[in-house]
Amino acid sequence: MQVVSSKEALSLPDGETVIVRGWVYRKREFKDKIFVLLRDREGIIQLVFPQQIPESQIARKLNIESSLIVEGMVKSDVRAPGGKEIHVSKVLWYFIGEPFPINEYAAQADSEYLLDVRHLWIRSRKMWAILRVRHTVFEAIHEYFRSKGFYEVHCPIFVSSAVEGGATLFKVRYFDREDVYLTQSAQFYLEALIFSLERVYTIAPSFRAEPSRTRRHLTEFWHAEAEMAWAGMRDVMRVSEELITHVVRKVLEDRLEELSLLKRNLEKLELVKPPFPRVSYDEAISMLNSMGLDIKWGADLGADEERALTQKFDTPIHLYGFPSVAKAFYHKDYPEDREKPLWERRTLSVDVLAPEGYGEIVGGGERIEDPEELRRKIREFGLKEEDYQWYIDLRKYGSVPHAGFGLGVDRLVMWICGLDHIRDSLPFPRDIRRVRP
Ligand code: ATP
Ligand code: MG
Repeated sequence: MQVVSSKEALSLPDGETVIVRGWVYRKREFKDKIFVLLRDREGIIQLVFPQQIPESQIARKLNIESSLIVEGMVKSDVRAPGGKEIHVSKVLWYFIGEPFPINEYAAQADSEYLLDVRHLWIRSRKMWAILRVRHTVFEAIHEYFRSKGFYEVHCPIFVSSAVEGGATLFKVRYFDREDVYLTQSAQFYLEALIFSLERVYTIAPSFRAEPSRTRRHLTEFWHAEAEMAWAGMRDVMRVSEELITHVVRKVLEDRLEELSLLKRNLEKLELVKPPFPRVSYDEAISMLNSMGLDIKWGADLGADEERALTQKFDTPIHLYGFPSVAKAFYHKDYPEDREKPLWERRTLSVDVLAPEGYGEIVGGGERIEDPEELRRKIREFGLKEEDYQWYIDLRKYGSVPHAGFGLGVDRLVMWICGLDHIRDSLPFPRDIRRVRP
C-alpha cells in the first residue's frame, strides 16, 4: 500500500486504496459519519469515518491538530474540497493532541497573541501559503542569478565595519574585542569578490538595529545581494527588473493556489514586466511637491513619500539619482556634478519601489572605483579612512567600474503575497521587541 499526499490522493481514480497522513484541520460529526479534514504539506483532503466502524471511536476523540495515519478508499464527492474524499477503513497510527490554543477563525483578532504562539501558528493555512510562496521566491532568485552567470558566494556574518552607517549596528560580544558587529550587508565582501569572479550574488541574513517599529522593518532580514564588474547604474536597473519579473512570473506559475488562498489580486502581479518606469529623484521631488507633500531636495524619501509616489504607477518603478547626502559614502557621484559641493551632488544610485504602497524593495547603484575619489568621499562624510582600509585597497590593484544592489527578500514576499506586515513574510520574525519563539 502506498502513502500518498493529499494532492496525490485527489488525483487518483475512485476505488484506489491509499494511506494518507497528516493533522486534523477541521472535524464535523453527524449521526452516521464523522468528517475530518486532514492537512499535510500539499493541502487538505476530507476523510470520512462511518459511525459503524470501530475506528470512528478514535475519530470522535481527535482534537484539532491531532495527527494520524489512515488507510481508505478514494471516492468522488462534489461536496468534498477538491471533489474527492477518502472513506477510512483503518487507522494505522494516531496521536490525540491537547486542545489546540488557536482558533483560526478568530485568529486575526489578536496578532500579538499569534506572535507569542508563532511556533504553532505557522501551521495555519495563511502561513502555509506564505511559506510556500517564500520557498518559490528563493528558488526563483537562485535560478535567475545562476542562469545569468552569477556565482553564488558566502560572506561573513561577524564583521568589523559598518556598510550602512553606525546607527543600526548590532554589537556582539566577541572574546575581548570591542569592534565586532553583525553584518548589515554583504556588499563590501561582494565588491572584493568581483575581482575574482566578476559577477557574484549571495542570499543571507542582514542585521539592523532599526530603532522604529514599522510595517516593513525587521532587525534580521534576508538579503539577496549582487555585485557586477564592468557595470553601471543602468545594469543595476536591468538586472533588478529582470530578477523581480522572473520571481513574480515563477510565483504566478507555481503558486496560484497559495496566492488565491491569500486573496491576492493577481491582476496587479500580472502587470509586472520590464522595463520598469524610470523616475529621477528630481522628478520625484516635483511630483511629490505638486501632490502637496512638503519634501525638500536633499532629503531621503520615507514610507509616506514612497507610498504617494508609487500610487501613480501600476508596476514597480526605478527611482534613481538620489542626492549624495541622502545615500551612503560608497555611491559614485554623477560625473557632471563632481566639482559641486557635496550637498548639491547626485549619485548614480537607484532604488526599486514596489507598487500598491509597498515602497522600497531594492537599493543599489554604481560604486566609486577611483581610490582618490573614495578617500575624498569618506572624508566628506566625516568617516575615518583607517576604518575602510581593506575596502580602499580593492581600488588600488586593477580597479574597474562596478555596480550592485541589495533586494530585501522579505519585503518582496510581503508585496507578492499582499501582506499588511513584513513579519508575516517569514516564519520567525525578529523585531525590536521580539526574539522568541
Ligand atoms: P529603508 O530606507 O527602507 O530602511 P534602506 O535604504 O536602509 O531601506 P538598503 O540599505 O538599501 O535599505 O537595503 C537594501 C534592501 O534591503 C532594501 O531595499 C530593503 O528591501 C531591504 N531592507 C533594508 N532594511 C531592512 C529591514 N530593516 N528589514 C527588512 N528589509 C530591509
Ligand atoms: Mg534602513
